[in-house]
Amino acid sequence: MAELQNTKSKLKAVIFDVDDTLYLEMDYIRSGFRLLTEYLHSLNIPAVLEDFVACFQTNAGDAIDLYLHRIGAYNKSLHQSLLSIHRAHIPNIQPFDYVEELLLWLKEKGLRLGVISDGTALAQNNKLMGLKLHHYFDDIVFSDALGGPHCRKPCDVSFRYIQKQMNIPFENMLYIGDNLDKDFYPVTHLGMQGIQYWNEKGVYYGKKYKVNSPSFREIKQMIQEIMEQRMPLNITIDGPVGAGKSSVANAVADRLGILHLDTGAMYRAFAYACKTMAVDENNPEQVAQAIKDTNISVDFVDGEQKTMVNGRVVNDYIRTPEMSMLASTLSKLPEVRQKLVAEQRNIARSHDILLDGRDTGTNVLPRADVKIFLTASPEVRAMRRFKQNAGGQSYSEILEDLKKRDLQDTTREINPLVMAEDGILVDSSDMDFEQTVEQILNIVRNFDGKQK
Ligand code: C5P
Repeated sequence: MAELQNTKSKLKAVIFDVDDTLYLEMDYIRSGFRLLTEYLHSLNIPAVLEDFVACFQTNAGDAIDLYLHRIGAYNKSLHQSLLSIHRAHIPNIQPFDYVEELLLWLKEKGLRLGVISDGTALAQNNKLMGLKLHHYFDDIVFSDALGGPHCRKPCDVSFRYIQKQMNIPFENMLYIGDNLDKDFYPVTHLGMQGIQYWNEKGVYYGKKYKVNSPSFREIKQMIQEIMEQRMPLNITIDGPVGAGKSSVANAVADRLGILHLDTGAMYRAFAYACKTMAVDENNPEQVAQAIKDTNISVDFVDGEQKTMVNGRVVNDYIRTPEMSMLASTLSKLPEVRQKLVAEQRNIARSHDILLDGRDTGTNVLPRADVKIFLTASPEVRAMRRFKQNAGGQSYSEILEDLKKRDLQDTTREINPLVMAEDGILVDSSDMDFEQTVEQILNIVRNFDGKQK
């Protein structure tokens, strides 16, 4: 883009799993079992750390139960005490190499950071304390705290919860975890981005892979690449007939170095198609059939819009008063709007683009970055048209046509011409062309860089 430095990065938040992602879970087990072994010693029960750890490898679900049985010391209350001590202890554990540097870098980049982890809130929280990483995270969600163990991954409630807290679309979030089955089901199905990290010493997952995991240095590189993907910039300009939308939009898009899609030209092209096919504009079935059978498309040649009917460029035939009025009449039909709006969204999806029309900010692209409503008094608009001498009409004819089209466009049932709730009003009654263009450019520049 010529003028804009817009950084509409695709990435706004990074969320981490904890166990075997930020640190080696086996170190946590050891740290806890060391404490339990000391506790057993204090009760004069002989216990050996390595035997205890071996029980975890046999039965990760309940190693304490297994070990107490093995050494013949099992009783329910001792089991319960050991479990509580284990959960409550602040473990002696270290983050994986480069994890802290990565978190610091992500914070400096202004990304929101989060944690989604399974397990009891007490134990998981203590792990973050032990790792001394707590302060890096803006949002921390332990799935058990949301309603018990059934909320653990692959259940997606914790992902939906954090998304609400962060108020960032899923597509702009990245999850980093180790467990392909548990972690990545919600990631894929909610449309988030994901990077898998695993360690061959990982408790559950490390051994499952033959290929090497990316290191956290490489993950930084991968994140950098995701950050460089930009979302297209979308600007809309809506307003009544004669407000100067098309020419103002053209100049603004040109100055920004982005495409300009004149959506009205597509309705006009359809009007032209109907005329050549002798479709009765007052017969909705005939019009509905005509839009079904007609392909309205656009192409941009050196930035200039070529509007086509079934592949044939019709730019030269659609700027007459007759086509204006016919387009306004035909555009009331839902079948016509549905098809053309779908095509317009399709074009906008992959381009930095400015759309002008009647419903582009309210209906075609309700999530556009900047939505302008450009208007002027009917008399000023009619006078501008008259000066262009469009079709040789008199001033009063033009004013009458314009008021009629205003009425049709603002009162039609589907997608009437209204200003979007978050639209910005630009009244050009007392401004010339250059001033209007400059005012809109200023609005866009002001948006630039402020991410939505
Ligand atoms: O903008 P223009 O005057 O070329 O548009 C021709 C007609 O197409 C308008 O009067 C309006 O009825 C219709 N139109 C629409 N929605 C748009 C653009 C144009 O209904 N987004």
